[in-house]
Amino acid sequence: MAVSTGTPSPAKPVRRARGEGQWALGHREPLNPNERSKKDDIGLNVRARIETIYAKGGFASIDPADLRGRFRWWGLYTQRKPGIDGGRTAVLEPHELDDEYFMLRVRVDGGQLDLRQLRAIANVSIKYGRDTADLTDRQNVQYHWIRVEDMPAIWEEIEGVGLSTTEACGDTPRVVLGSPVAGISTDEVLDGTPAIREIVDRFIGDPTLANLPRKFKSVVSWLPDVPYEANDISFLGVVHPEHGPGFDLWVGGGLSTNPMLAQRLGAWIPLDEIADVWVGVCKLFRDYGYRRLRSRARLKFLVADWGVEKFRSVLEQEFLGRALLDGPAPELPDRPIDHMGVHEQRDGLFYVGATPVVGRVTGTALAKLADIVEAHGSDRVRLTPHQKLLVLDVPADRVDSLVVALREIGLEANPSPIRRSTMACTGIEYCKLAIVETKAKAAEVVAHIEATGLVAPISVNVNGCPNACARTQIADIGLKGQLVPGPDGEMVEGYQIHLGGGLALAQGQQPGFGRKVRGLKTTALELPAYVERLTREYLAGRKDAD
Ligand code: SF4
Repeated sequence: MAVSTGTPSPAKPVRRARGEGQWALGHREPLNPNERSKKDDIGLNVRARIETIYAKGGFASIDPADLRGRFRWWGLYTQRKPGIDGGRTAVLEPHELDDEYFMLRVRVDGGQLDLRQLRAIANVSIKYGRDTADLTDRQNVQYHWIRVEDMPAIWEEIEGVGLSTTEACGDTPRVVLGSPVAGISTDEVLDGTPAIREIVDRFIGDPTLANLPRKFKSVVSWLPDVPYEANDISFLGVVHPEHGPGFDLWVGGGLSTNPMLAQRLGAWIPLDEIADVWVGVCKLFRDYGYRRLRSRARLKFLVADWGVEKFRSVLEQEFLGRALLDGPAPELPDRPIDHMGVHEQRDGLFYVGATPVVGRVTGTALAKLADIVEAHGSDRVRLTPHQKLLVLDVPADRVDSLVVALREIGLEANPSPIRRSTMACTGIEYCKLAIVETKAKAAEVVAHIEATGLVAPISVNVNGCPNACARTQIADIGLKGQLVPGPDGEMVEGYQIHLGGGLALAQGQQPGFGRKVRGLKTTALELPAYVERLTREYLAGRKDAD
């Protein structure tokens, strides 16, 4: 017990709460270098400088603050200098890692492409990107080896067909994911595409929404065939017993470090109100999102701290000015859907889903794809959030020929389970944050398991660092790149292993993150054999259970 000395203690200095950097609470002063850079100049403004100064002056003329910050607002990241091993990723200065070339991301909202757009994407790859064109797990296309000098011509070509790189990266509203079968599926009640278009038309490139605390990832989809639980905001199809078809609102999902699943707000949103609700949530994030620490700046931290009731109440009162209608939870299908193979559309035509190996294609292959699609009577292709693509509107009598033609350009409509369910991020080949290689290693795993003849529905997600761009935590085998002790004790490329993760994409599935098993790691060299061992154990276990 404290004993009074009889003399008054000196007054304690009043400690002001530091807050989390929320604008709505008056914390306007930038609290870290990223916030300072955004306050100095909005990222969207860099476009004019690229066109008028940097494209003429070349790489050396680029202001470093633009190069490593604002360029992202137009989909541009410097790419990793070749030959720098993963052990030096964390110790080198950014400029030592920078190559003079860029990764460029083209946003394909809803994953929807017509043939003109597909051909433009292919042309840019061939002309300016050394034939690179990765299909990402966010329905984007990603080039490498892009020079700043070529950006004006690239924008002319891309924007000329209605595509864009606007806010493809940066602290902005990123590409809006949509069901790859929107508008054609027999299981869909209401197509969310009009809402995706409205969001893009009204808000992408809006300067008042271009300085968010971090990236803001969105989904609008009737079907749960996109990873809706891993996004900042998702609208998922549901039929309201009184009001009919509409969308169920989810917020606060995100993987990377501190992964969290999105939570339902319990609100039912009609199709024509999605864009208004979307911008309400976006503004709430802008104003209340945490800006002090980048590691806590995603919307998920705010949702976790507030809880869904407070979040919904602030959204309704401060940003929408009205109450939202309560609504039921969506029903999930019997099985998860990835759309591979041949399926009938609701108009009697067919769509064909096909996959490259871990999303890697070339501009040349995409140009051939466009010719093949046209020759089979179609004008439409869709990208999926699983690094795959679909050809729509194929007449029944052209399907077999299409499947063969796709195979000839490396797109397989009847893939082995391992090819079907393996994804990989960009990795050390181009990514400055990477610690290990990913795409080639994942392709090696696919080839190895195919050679064994093992057939098991096991998903493998290979990531080059803890950022989890290829969703480490929600695969059966999630791999997080890091250096691990090799056989001789020296540090070599390897992976921390997470086991048993998954989203709720079908009835009966319990969403959850793979367990990071302490000490469970493999070297990159041993990875194919490791996946084989796990696959055999899984198959033996399943046999025992039968
Ligand atoms: Fe780069 Fe890491 Fe993302 Fe892979 S997970 S693309 S290595 S940041």
